Amino acid sequence: MQSEELRSLDNEHVWHPFTQMRAHREEGVPIIESGEGFFLTDVDGKTYLDGVSSLWCNVHGHRVPAIDQAIRDQLDKVAHSTLLGLASVPSIELAEDLVKRAPEGLTKVFYSDSGSTAVEIALKMAFQYHAQKATPDTQPRTLFACMQHAYHGDTIGSVSVGGISIFHQIFGQLLFESVQIPCPSAYHRPTEYTKAGYLEFCEQELERLIVENHERLAAFVIEPLVQGAAGMLMHPPGYLKRVRELTARYGIPLIADEVAVGLGRTGTMFACEQEDVTPDFLCLAKGITGGYLPLAATMTTDEIFSAFDAEPDEYKAFYHGHTYTGNSLACAAALATLELFDSEQTLDNVKQIAEVLTQRLAELKDHPHVGEVRHKGSMVGIELVADRETKAAFPASKRMGHQVTLVARKQGVIVRPLGDVVVLMPAPGMPAELIHQLCDVVFAAIDEAV
Ligand code: PLP
Repeated sequence: MQSEELRSLDNEHVWHPFTQMRAHREEGVPIIESGEGFFLTDVDGKTYLDGVSSLWCNVHGHRVPAIDQAIRDQLDKVAHSTLLGLASVPSIELAEDLVKRAPEGLTKVFYSDSGSTAVEIALKMAFQYHAQKATPDTQPRTLFACMQHAYHGDTIGSVSVGGISIFHQIFGQLLFESVQIPCPSAYHRPTEYTKAGYLEFCEQELERLIVENHERLAAFVIEPLVQGAAGMLMHPPGYLKRVRELTARYGIPLIADEVAVGLGRTGTMFACEQEDVTPDFLCLAKGITGGYLPLAATMTTDEIFSAFDAEPDEYKAFYHGHTYTGNSLACAAALATLELFDSEQTLDNVKQIAEVLTQRLAELKDHPHVGEVRHKGSMVGIELVADRETKAAFPASKRMGHQVTLVARKQGVIVRPLGDVVVLMPAPGMPAELIHQLCDVVFAAIDEAV
């Protein structure tokens, strides 16, 4: 099919996610046909550097021989069989591998197929855990604590613990109750606070909100270290540890949503490791299959599991599951992805990426339209502002972040904005010279667009 015909069929029939479709039709986005390494090629033969890892999930590149082969080998056995009443070889082997790699104590793996469902499952498990542990005099725990500006996915449960108004506000009447904890990322603080004063306020509010609500809290859900979709908002060192201390003290399960930050993105396999934290739930998706196939894992502890481990006539099973739970092809891709972390020393590569980024991002230090650069591992947010001194934003109608990505795309680099934050999310396996190419093009695009 010719590219014009494909484009008109795309416009006619495909409803794209999080997309204002009128603008999509007018813009004419690239239609990707193939990929190789860290590049994607469209139907017109134009090649692009994949600067956001295909929405934060690609890890070792596209068409990686070891992952391709693992999927083919599994395809020669069976593509899928259910985990309801049956078990499967790849889902067992992957669970063992994940348990070995995850923070100690996370011994159980519940599979699903997206980041949203990984979180949804943790929320439901936490709720059911309390319900099954409850005594007649305990009040029901129907409240969840989450961070301001959080993003945990787009199912109703995960939206309920989210705080990005442009995505979540419209569904407000459908959502369950949550307590929003102020986000300790100081750039957007109210003007009356100094940076130190704001961080102190956040610390006090964290404790106050937990103490006040602890008897009703089913869980506390957090993106450890970096709130990605909020525009790469970074928590100060020690914050996650403090959340762990407080939640442990008040018997509140901690859900670490590592859908974005897990699988090497922050420089360690899991972000929780950096603060020596074991959560009660660890949610993984995106990079778990190297960006090949939809798969997610919600990991938890023996303690949580014990509340569900009962006789059939006690009806304490976890009543949740999807048709493709633990899909064999996806588990095979995940096993190969994890093995490549070892054989390719991918975590060392992320350290090199981080060094190159630190050095290159310093070039934006005095840029008149860069308000703040936030960076951890291979995750970067460049916040564009109309005025660096006052932090005044560009008028929304200018869609400045979007303009930068359009210019970069013309120059052969795919990046995505989050509002006026330009996000760079190179794959953990991307070689350093491509990081330079990514920075060269994006920095030039910022200069051209603003
Ligand atoms: N949690 C976090 C932290 C995310 O960044 C995302 C997606 O960006 C999700 C959950 C939802 O994942 P998915 O889009 O696979 O449902």
